[in-house]
Amino acid sequence: MSIDVEAVRRQTRGVLCVTHLNNARSSLAPGPVMDTVVGHLRREEQIGGYEAAEEAAERLEGVYSSLARLIGAGPDEIALAESGSRAWAAAVYGFPFVPGSRVLIGRSEYAGNVIALRQLARRNDLQIVVLDDDRYGQVDLEQLQRELERGHVAMVALTHVPMANGLVNPAAEVGRRCRAAGVMFVLDACQSVGQMPLDVQSLGCDVLAGTGRKFLRGPRGTAFLYIRAAVLERLEPAMLDGHSTVPTGAGGFEVRGDARRFESWETSAAGRLGLGRAVDYALALGLDAVQERVVGLADQLRGELAAVPGVTVHDRGITRCGIVTFSVKGTDARNIRSRLAEHRINVSVAPLPSAQADSIPTGTRQGEDLVVRASVHYYNTETEVQRLVGFLR
Ligand SMILES: *Cc1c(COP(=O)(O)O)cnc(C)c1O
Repeated sequence: MSIDVEAVRRQTRGVLCVTHLNNARSSLAPGPVMDTVVGHLRREEQIGGYEAAEEAAERLEGVYSSLARLIGAGPDEIALAESGSRAWAAAVYGFPFVPGSRVLIGRSEYAGNVIALRQLARRNDLQIVVLDDDRYGQVDLEQLQRELERGHVAMVALTHVPMANGLVNPAAEVGRRCRAAGVMFVLDACQSVGQMPLDVQSLGCDVLAGTGRKFLRGPRGTAFLYIRAAVLERLEPAMLDGHSTVPTGAGGFEVRGDARRFESWETSAAGRLGLGRAVDYALALGLDAVQERVVGLADQLRGELAAVPGVTVHDRGITRCGIVTFSVKGTDARNIRSRLAEHRINVSVAPLPSAQADSIPTGTRQGEDLVVRASVHYYNTETEVQRLVGFLR
């Protein structure tokens, strides 16, 4: 079934205000999602925060089941978090690193994850090995294989869809190799969840982190973590509280037996309900249909951009997604973004794909290393894509 674009646009109030090609940063949420958030806040206002949560208890539990369905997991394997970074870090900081072991990452690993890994490397005397890209720009599977065979690998951490370069990494292939080597596989799915079908069984990941506000179209400040039941006992949260533990009598406690050991007690119930609504919304549309439309619009955009004099498209990879990166000769990416913003066309800037891993150490990027990132979603239209290209012309 394909997506009824008119219908989803009618449910997306923001399309009346802006041409939003910034879905990789934060999508326009559908009306039903924001109505869920605001509706719950109103109940908190009317009857009290805990009382409103009790009233919504079943729906709050349902958020776990919805996320589990979205990625082919069990509800006990899901934890909720306030950001994708925190979800990812909650699991990784809980890993029992053996000093001297190695962590393998890709060149386009999310910069925030790399910073966390560096802290862990310093603390645990780890070596971070950055795998090269293959000639298509995706993680080099042959080098991965060699490094796995070399041994002493604690973990492989991969970003499924890098922030900027348009490609989808061959995560299932990485998962297969990690499983064969008996190595923990941590997948950052913050940019892939919501724009394509994900299944943790076929991806072969032990840990997966996703965020709510990007392609899932959830509210800000929402995210989730998947932990495969079989590895849960190996991961002890770096921080514990009354929610992540159970009392054992005589003042003792033990860590919870499900993925919620990585949660903390206090949270935005409204945000969680909104996230659940966003997941249900995506499931109702069908992630296959979502991906088909997203890839179609992104291909249209790449094609039209390539025909504009002075414009270079930087995307790489074999399998492409809704992220499109480009630069305009002689014009700074930030300048383009702000001029597009004057016309209510939303895009963002991102580091040049080939500069990503190299710029991680300094974290400072010069203007010439930046590209424009336009990211489409299924509710965007061919006309909106043409509006962007027309402006650039
Ligand atoms: C946005 C993003 C994150 C972090 O998610 P937050 O919710 O902003 O913490 C991690 N990885 C990738 C690839 C991202 O694009």
